[in-house]
Amino acid sequence: MKRFFLSITLMAMLLLLVSHALPQAHPPATRAEMRVARMQQATRNVDETSEYRLGRAVAARILTSYQLAQDPKLQLYLNEVGQTVARKSSRPDTFRGYHFAVLESLEPNAFACPGGIILITRGMLKLCGNEDEVAAALAHEVAHVAHRDGVNSVVSSRWAAVVADRRIAAAKERGGRAAEMAALYEDSINDVFKTMVTNGYSRTAEWAADQEALRSLSRAGYNPQALASLLTKMLAQENRGVGIYRTHPPTALRLARVNAQIKDLKPEKIPEARERRFKEQKI
Ligand SMILES: [Zn+2]
Repeated sequence: MKRFFLSITLMAMLLLLVSHALPQAHPPATRAEMRVARMQQATRNVDETSEYRLGRAVAARILTSYQLAQDPKLQLYLNEVGQTVARKSSRPDTFRGYHFAVLESLEPNAFACPGGIILITRGMLKLCGNEDEVAAALAHEVAHVAHRDGVNSVVSSRWAAVVADRRIAAAKERGGRAAEMAALYEDSINDVFKTMVTNGYSRTAEWAADQEALRSLSRAGYNPQALASLLTKMLAQENRGVGIYRTHPPTALRLARVNAQIKDLKPEKIPEARERRFKEQKI
């Protein structure tokens, strides 16, 4: 945190210098704009392979506290729905593609690991009353991957370590500084894990994920209103310290924003085939 404020202060000083040198320059960036710019700069330094490796390690860490559901039929179904919305997202392709899996937990929750591994709890699926709501939950997670929110949660001072992860692997074989480098990489995994499971992303990131979910749902032929109906169900059983409620903005605020965006849409009827295949699942 100290480093964060230090870098903000340094950037502010630089901006001040620039604005003195160029009286006609744009007004100084706000704190939020500087933060976004800093994150975008950091993200550009991480290639897809490193992002994938980081995401895989984060997923493995999550699986130390959650059990994967042993239900191949549900797994296949979830992947069909997930791939449909992912293809229509702002980032349809990642290094190793998107993968969706169910976690055996009754707490409603979902995790978007960098690179495209998406884990959703049975509790979250149980809240969904139809396929469109499943698609809505997954589209929100796909948007987090598309926006690289997980990668962005790595403390910027550790970027060098993530970017250099090929060198970490090589150094591991040589010994010597390996332990030190691996420890740095481990810290990046911790950063992402802590953000995803405990602290949550910023509100701005969550609003953006909901907004993108509405777009992907619509492009994929799903009803965007499903996000609002899912949030309505979540609101009814919201328990702020638990699962997805712990890491996301209050559901009432999310719902109000989503409703404002879909207010002009006419209600749609879900096609029969889609209803049938949803009901066939043992959720
Ligand atoms: Zn989210």
